[in-house]
Amino acid sequence: MRDYEVHFLMDLDSVIDYVVDEAKCFISKDTLIAEEIGNGNINYVFKVRDVKTGYSVIVKQADKLLRSSGRPLDLHRNAIEVDVLKIEDELMPGFVPVVYHYSKHMYACTMEDISSYKNLRKELMLQKVFPDFADQITSFIVNTTLPTTDLILSRKKKKERVKFFTNYDCCDISEDLVFTEPYYDYKKRNIITKGNESYVKMNLYEDDLLKSEVGILRNKFMNNSQALIHGDLHSGSIFVDYRGIKVIDPEFAFYGPIGYDIGNVMGNLIIAYCYSLGKGCLKFTDWIINAIKDIWDLSRLKLQEKLSKKVDLPLYNQKFKDLYTQDILGDSLGFAGTEIIRRVVGDSKTDEMYMLTPLENKIQKERILIEIGKWLIINRNHVKSGLEVMNECQRVMEAYAVEV
Ligand code: ADP
Ligand code: MG
Repeated sequence: MRDYEVHFLMDLDSVIDYVVDEAKCFISKDTLIAEEIGNGNINYVFKVRDVKTGYSVIVKQADKLLRSSGRPLDLHRNAIEVDVLKIEDELMPGFVPVVYHYSKHMYACTMEDISSYKNLRKELMLQKVFPDFADQITSFIVNTTLPTTDLILSRKKKKERVKFFTNYDCCDISEDLVFTEPYYDYKKRNIITKGNESYVKMNLYEDDLLKSEVGILRNKFMNNSQALIHGDLHSGSIFVDYRGIKVIDPEFAFYGPIGYDIGNVMGNLIIAYCYSLGKGCLKFTDWIINAIKDIWDLSRLKLQEKLSKKVDLPLYNQKFKDLYTQDILGDSLGFAGTEIIRRVVGDSKTDEMYMLTPLENKIQKERILIEIGKWLIINRNHVKSGLEVMNECQRVMEAYAVEV
């Protein structure tokens, strides 16, 4: 039997040995087959299936080097991912893959196979609608983050967690890619569509008001250790089905502002909305714009409900709870804005951005997204309802004369 005390990168053969000998998920290797299903550019994801029973598990392994660029990346992110999955599973059972086994030496997590659920981003690109999504994702966010704050968790435990979940390299990536480079291209990595260079220069690189507001959001991302957040809750990390949703890949998790998770979901839905325009699917555009509105409104409702139920220190009275909720909601719009803008100009684009063709008004749609993103950042603390967000998105589309 192989030694699993020292990290080595697994392949299709060794992962079969691993799930039997180390993770003990199967008794025999005879009928097992393995495939690599990872589409990410960071880790290695294997699916091992017993062809006789159909039972399968997923093994996600991290390497010292980033899969895409080969640059080193702190391996502790893998232990963070596993612990977050366990905490989320306790707080919201059924919403994340169950962790079956973890090897801290191999940096490998063996977990439930959720492949019968579908990647939300891909489904949105096909104009599929999910009537319960706003309700499901807001329950997930509120119920997995608020209980990890020191309003609910003991102060000592929270501080211990802040320490354990300090996620040096992953946060560093976000601080650069989300909060710095789209406005100050100091690493020269931005990818700007030909024809939008001067638009980006004028509207992002040279807008001082915007820069100061993004600076405030950046500072908040780095210094508001409010709750254990997912940290990368884009629509490719959410899987959907008529049975519900499954959230995967919390390797960017850390103690940060709750609004970052809400904002990431909203921002990616706004990207999907913009992508769908011109494709003539009224049912979809109507559903998604309402989902964006509902996510904001339901977040408020559920945050307030949970604060009322779980927080009883007299100092944290109703006024405090209202301000606390308002602060998260304001953050969420700002972070939706930074997410949208970084996906348009940064080097980590979403599938929608790659799939937009000149024929589909790529230049125009990028400008629409930048304009909405800026509006969200600048106006984040003045918005009172999800309806205002919805109206603004529609106003910008109409100003550019984009048809559904
Ligand atoms: P990375 O962190 O490297 O981006 P992800 O966690 O996003 O890796 O996983 C990459 C892909 O592997 C996902 O998009 C999904 O298709 C698949 N995958 C990951 N975890 C599971 C799982 N538990 N069940 C089924 N498929 C999974
Ligand atoms: Mg990842």
